[in-house]
Amino acid sequence: MKHLAKKLVERQPVYEPGRPIDDVARDLGLDLKSIIKLASNESPFGPSPRAREAASHALGQGHLYPDGNATYLKEKIAETRALRPEQIVVGNGSNEVIELLGHAFLRPGDEVVMGTPAFIVYKLVTLLFEAVPVEVPLVDYRHDLDAMAARVTDKTRMVFLPSPNNPTGTANTADEILAFARGLPPHVIFVFDEAYAEYLDSPPDLRPLIEEGRNVVCLRTFSKIYGLAALRIGYGYGSAEWASLLNRVRQPFNTNAVAQAAATAALDDVEFVRSCRRRNREGREQLARGLAAAGFESVPSEGNFLLVKVGQGRAFFENMQREGVIVRPLDGYGLPEFVRVSIGTAAENERFLRVLEGCRTQSRS
Ligand SMILES: *Cc1c(COP(=O)(O)O)cnc(C)c1O
Repeated sequence: MKHLAKKLVERQPVYEPGRPIDDVARDLGLDLKSIIKLASNESPFGPSPRAREAASHALGQGHLYPDGNATYLKEKIAETRALRPEQIVVGNGSNEVIELLGHAFLRPGDEVVMGTPAFIVYKLVTLLFEAVPVEVPLVDYRHDLDAMAARVTDKTRMVFLPSPNNPTGTANTADEILAFARGLPPHVIFVFDEAYAEYLDSPPDLRPLIEEGRNVVCLRTFSKIYGLAALRIGYGYGSAEWASLLNRVRQPFNTNAVAQAAATAALDDVEFVRSCRRRNREGREQLARGLAAAGFESVPSEGNFLLVKVGQGRAFFENMQREGVIVRPLDGYGLPEFVRVSIGTAAENERFLRVLEGCRTQSRS
């Protein structure tokens, strides 16, 4: 049916996700329990007990359609984040909110400014709407906000900034980000992706800019520190006007009831989030130290993962995988010499470091 598809479909790059554990186990004939996945920046600590309980309770009502407005979740987000429910759009992961931004705002030929390497979904969504990605190289693995500002033209519709960035783990300072946002012209929507904000001690706060009436949208997810990646739930917040536009282009039941219940409960478990943040920091230090001791360079990270220079990333990934450790090769991000390693539990990090030594000798060029 190829000839019936729109031209852009064939041109569309394919996203390479981290490999699921079961898949690798079957492929390599390994024991499921012997495999650890450090490939997708998932939380090794799982969902909070309260979120689990809320999710299993919601399953009992599995025959009913979910609340299409995600009323309770939005109220809880509003309460915990000092927002109004009308400012919030809940999505099937924050990835869906990125796509909804495309639906609502991107016309063919519009320009979208983004860093490179940065989260690949910005580019995929831009291409999907026949808009033009304007990719601005990172400097020292960090977004170069001056260079990005310089690439804004009359055709620019959106600018994406993730901080901390995936896959580099670097963050820009709050002052830099606020000044950058304030400098953008009013025909540009600034999309600030806060997927890893909860790993920072004091994340930048863009709510004052939204209150000032600027075209600023922020994205958050329950896939990372809240440990709910499987349930697919995240949200964006901005002006109430923005949210009502986005709500018109989404599916009526875009997020499921189990995810809504789990996310609502997760927001209440402040102590659990705090403990995940602390354990992540300890694990990150453990990994960075071990990597350095083994002679590997890694980029100082503020997230729940490390960008590691290994020589030949693809070979390193395959060697590690044979030992039951899944990391993420980054050729798709234009970083063939690197892999991305998510922070695991202390035991998982130790296992990674043990397997590392053997792989180094095989994949160093
Ligand atoms: C993981 C991640 C997300 C979250 O995506 P979900 O769809 O909410 O799972 C968003 N942005 C960045 C930069 C990420 O790394």
